[in-house]
Amino acid sequence: MVAPARYFSWIACKLAVPVVGVVGLGGLVLGLSVGASLASAFIVGLVAYAAVWGLLHRRLQTIHDLLHHLRAHRFEELGTSPSPRGDEIDGLVWELHRTGQMLNREIDDMRRMESYRREFIGNVSHELKTPIFSIQGFAETLSDGALEDPSVNHAFLQKIVRNANRLDRLARDLSEIAGLETGTMDMQVTAFDIDALAEEVIETLQPKAEEQDVQLRLDMPADPLPAVEGDRERIRQVLVNLIDNAIKYNEPGGYVAILATPVDGAVRVAVRDDGIGIPERHLNRLTERFYRVDKSRARHQGGSGLGLSIVKHILSAHDAQLDVESTVGKGSTFTFVLPVA
Ligand code: ADP
Repeated sequence: MVAPARYFSWIACKLAVPVVGVVGLGGLVLGLSVGASLASAFIVGLVAYAAVWGLLHRRLQTIHDLLHHLRAHRFEELGTSPSPRGDEIDGLVWELHRTGQMLNREIDDMRRMESYRREFIGNVSHELKTPIFSIQGFAETLSDGALEDPSVNHAFLQKIVRNANRLDRLARDLSEIAGLETGTMDMQVTAFDIDALAEEVIETLQPKAEEQDVQLRLDMPADPLPAVEGDRERIRQVLVNLIDNAIKYNEPGGYVAILATPVDGAVRVAVRDDGIGIPERHLNRLTERFYRVDKSRARHQGGSGLGLSIVKHILSAHDAQLDVESTVGKGSTFTFVLPVA
């Protein structure tokens, strides 16, 4: 038993120094490495914080500012939109810019509609006032005794009928223009002969022309015209309005001519009269709603002031425009072009 005990203690003695040395060294290394880890963790933390500050905080602040501008409707302060490429934050900033642009457009549209509505209602009530007051006035005068007076009763009744007709035309033109201006026009595009259509319109308006002693004529080329493309009923409305005006703003003994000429790939249609003409300063405002050159004459003629506005809308739905040439005292020519079918 002694020998093994000695043997073990000898081994223990021999190993003690290296074991203590290794453990001591290990402890030293461990101690050093823990210290180093702490230091490097601290540095890494600092670097990470600086990177997050530089890369994220600044961009999150931008998002915060953008949301603030959006909430306050300060769209001009959104600045220019960044590229949608990049990381998720770039994508988010880009989406916010797009949202801002869309909101801006929608709010602009709403404001435009609102001012259009207010102006429209103002115009309409102004237009309604005159015929309503006239009808009221003449009806009251008749009922107060003028009905028994043969020198005025017939004339007063005629004035009532004329103003009622004016109201009727106004109501129809208003519903027409409201449909056209809110973009709910239903177009039925077909191929049709413009000369046949012009003849039909002339036939309809012949009695009115005769009443005003104005001659209506059709000036078509000798060769047959190609068929044109468009909404036949809408183009009829255009011709009716233009020819009706050419009769209304004419003098007894005057004429109205409807001309059609082929031009490359299209047909040019013109309504010409030798009537009162239009001063140049009014020409570019004629198609505005309720715009009239000579207000008293226009009202006397029973126009709604919407005819040329309706014409402009119908033509622009055909990608066409209305051109006007006019000389005071000599007459006017209204022209538009339709494509060949
Ligand atoms: P209105 O119902 O008053 O005729 P329009 O919109 O059709 O309304 O026409 C606008 C104005 O343009 C008319 O009031 C008139 O002063 C002028 N005008 C239109 N066509 C002619 C024409 N052929 N000759 C002279 N003036 C015209």
